[in-house]
Amino acid sequence: MRNDWRVSKPPATMRAMVFDEVRGPLRAAELPVPTPDRSQLLLRVEACGVCRTDLHLLDGEVTIAKPPRVLGHQIVARSLADGRRVGVPWLGWTDGDCQQCRAGRENLCEQARFTGCDIDGGYAEYAVADERFCFDLASNEQAEQLAPLLCAGLIGYRSLRMCGDAQRIGFYGFGAAAHILTQLVVWQGREVYAFTRRGDAGAQALAREVGAVWAGASEDRPPVALDAAIIFAPVGSLVPLALRAVGPAGVVVCGGIHMSDIPAFPYELLWGERVLRSVANLTRDDGHEFLALAAQAGVRSHVTTYALEDANQALADLRAGVFKGAAVLVI
Ligand SMILES: [Zn+2]
Ligand SMILES: [Zn+2]
Repeated sequence: MRNDWRVSKPPATMRAMVFDEVRGPLRAAELPVPTPDRSQLLLRVEACGVCRTDLHLLDGEVTIAKPPRVLGHQIVARSLADGRRVGVPWLGWTDGDCQQCRAGRENLCEQARFTGCDIDGGYAEYAVADERFCFDLASNEQAEQLAPLLCAGLIGYRSLRMCGDAQRIGFYGFGAAAHILTQLVVWQGREVYAFTRRGDAGAQALAREVGAVWAGASEDRPPVALDAAIIFAPVGSLVPLALRAVGPAGVVVCGGIHMSDIPAFPYELLWGERVLRSVANLTRDDGHEFLALAAQAGVRSHVTTYALEDANQALADLRAGVFKGAAVLVI
């Protein structure tokens, strides 16, 4: 029933996949359809992207303070009020008033609430979202095409912004974020070097297919010194490898919300004014900028779709690296 957002009144209950506890599977549940407050839209979810952050939530590496919780923070949905299509990202609410918000860094808001973590997300038929944090999305595009843009694309883009005008950019971990960002970077006339687990021929083939000039194993030296590198894989041992791959004044950006411990490394890897930094969350400006650029660049997501009830399978497949590109629940 892909078009039942047209109903004027929602049903009383909905299907949802619910997080109860760390390491437990998500539970298929019948929940009351949420009621929006004055700042919120009531949304009929069309599709919701599956993100590595959801694995970190499941594993307790990022904490859900108040379970039970509906996961999912790459929501493509229709507003029941007017049929408008919107995207709901990870940043679900900020106070607008703390020191970070006032400094233009709402991504670091001290009171921030995140979709699918502090607020119920899109692994459900319906959701509510603060209208001020929703993005307008194209009506004529497939929902599953748009979903991966809302976190993989968007936080990937924030990471890319931190690379400045770097011409040669390395991506460590070639999944949802990297395959989207590569298309944007290539469209901008820059070069992408793709690093994957050794022997991951599928990910390396996808990298070349979307325009990477080189693909190899993370331990390999690229053929040239890079100007910047973004680490998407949650693997701390990639940090010294990426620092080794960038030249003087090169930037290494850690793009994920969680990473295993970073091993000690010799100072000479950081010497030469190399910069190591993280990226946290997103601002609404990042979203507007990225979604406009992605449309101009004609970015296409490589998507594997799953039914809502198969969310646990989608997460297991993401963990095991079964599919290439992005996974999306079509609801
Ligand atoms: Zn704030
Ligand atoms: Zn995410």
